[in-house]
Amino acid sequence: MTTDTAIAEKYEVVIGLEVHCQLRTRSKMFSDCPRDYFDREPNTLIDPVTLGLPGTLPVINEQAVAYTILAGLALGCEIPEYAKFDRKNYPYPDLPKGYQITQYDQPFCLEGSVEVDTRDRGKRTIGLERIHLEEDTGRLLHRDDGSEDYSLIDFNRAGVPLMELVSKPDLRSSDEAVAFLRYLRQVFRYAGVSDADLEKGSFRCDANVSLRLHGAEEFGAKVEVKNMNSFRSVQRAIEFEIERQAEILDAGGTVDQETRGFIDATGETASQRSKEEAHDYRYFPEPDLPPLHIEPAMVDELRAALPELPRARAARFVLEHGLTEDESHTLTESRQRAEDYEAAVTLVGDTSKARAVAHWFIGDVAGRINELGRADAELVDTGISPEHVAQLVQLVEAKTITASTAKDVLGFAFESGDLPEAIVEARGLRQVTDSGAIEAVVTQVIEANPKAVDDYRGGKESAVKFLVGQVMRETRGRTDPNSAAEMIKAALDA
Ligand code: ADP
Ligand code: MG
Repeated sequence: MTTDTAIAEKYEVVIGLEVHCQLRTRSKMFSDCPRDYFDREPNTLIDPVTLGLPGTLPVINEQAVAYTILAGLALGCEIPEYAKFDRKNYPYPDLPKGYQITQYDQPFCLEGSVEVDTRDRGKRTIGLERIHLEEDTGRLLHRDDGSEDYSLIDFNRAGVPLMELVSKPDLRSSDEAVAFLRYLRQVFRYAGVSDADLEKGSFRCDANVSLRLHGAEEFGAKVEVKNMNSFRSVQRAIEFEIERQAEILDAGGTVDQETRGFIDATGETASQRSKEEAHDYRYFPEPDLPPLHIEPAMVDELRAALPELPRARAARFVLEHGLTEDESHTLTESRQRAEDYEAAVTLVGDTSKARAVAHWFIGDVAGRINELGRADAELVDTGISPEHVAQLVQLVEAKTITASTAKDVLGFAFESGDLPEAIVEARGLRQVTDSGAIEAVVTQVIEANPKAVDDYRGGKESAVKFLVGQVMRETRGRTDPNSAAEMIKAALDA
């Protein structure tokens, strides 16, 4: 077995990705049949166009075109003025017409790039070839009931608008491939064009992998790996493929150009079809659809509609709110989270308090969201709103409540949905500011804890902490721990 470092020293890894992403339109790509098939009974979202019945004609879904161009603009693509659809012919049971309508030589988006940042290789720019629009296929469900095996076909997915992005062979490691995919998913979600969910199959990727000796001019034969349905399986599939190819090359063999499928259970890839079996798709322009003239005015409109993208937003949070890069990164992971955070900052009305707002979002609020155990959970799912966080920050900043009380208040807010100000009033949680009252508690705590007092006088500074804890307990967290500590020391030193 060759080790990873030995492979890396000898070979350069070359990866290009093909990413399929279902668009969040209301209807299918070429008819008004509803699109959202998740959790639907098989073959309930079908119509004559979906089934490719004779005599039916496709109609282009304008929203799907707009979403594809929007995605392209978000990735810095060029939008050519003319585009067209083509037929890709191949017989397969999940393809009712016997051909797929896709785009061959005149896609909606060309070039563009994605910046990836990995620990090993740092910041690098990965080029894109294109983004085109096509229709998804139906799904085959393979069954084996013991006596016979057979396949069922579900056409609900057939005709769902599918955007395909093809990268240049610029990626150099599995880490870069995953970083690339994570960024795409984030941007597609920000732009609102797709829910880009790997598990639901609305975001899928094929990885083309090859190796060449460092310094070699020519690329090696590429292997296309399919069937990965998580970032982790993309990573494992590429890693497996790198090792497999390195072993072949080390032994003086040649890598076959072929398509392989990733098997999650074993972490291995297995051959599906070789180059010899590759289809001849006999592409030709789709005769049932007109070529499209993409009006520059429409592109300008879409460009103007593009939301602020995650990296720009993160940079702005660093600049305007004084957040660290890590903080702003975390807060911009999803557009919703960034918007909730920013709404809270706006409600507080003072960007110098933004960091305090950020700490709640990154700390206790994120913790609560995680507890919900759903990948797409957001603030709203915890039962509170940006206003809750804003009030909490304002109460602490105004010293109406202590930091420790604030945590409890947030807990009560999660349970009841009540606003922090109301909770503080109803439960009498205002900070004790009457120094006479605090002094009385301090005296009482000192009297009740002679051992801690002796420890302190014997030079054990940490005994003060214990006494502060007692004061906090007596006042149910409503005392400022710093002033309590000062009072205790003053009393003991006197
Ligand atoms: P095909 O004609 O087989 O579809 P393409 O040239 O269209 O091949 O490329 C498909 C994908 O494979 C692209 O993402 C591209 O970057 C990638 N690719 C091309 N050649 C290689 C290679 N030698 N190694 C790895 N990836 C490659
Ligand atoms: Mg290709």
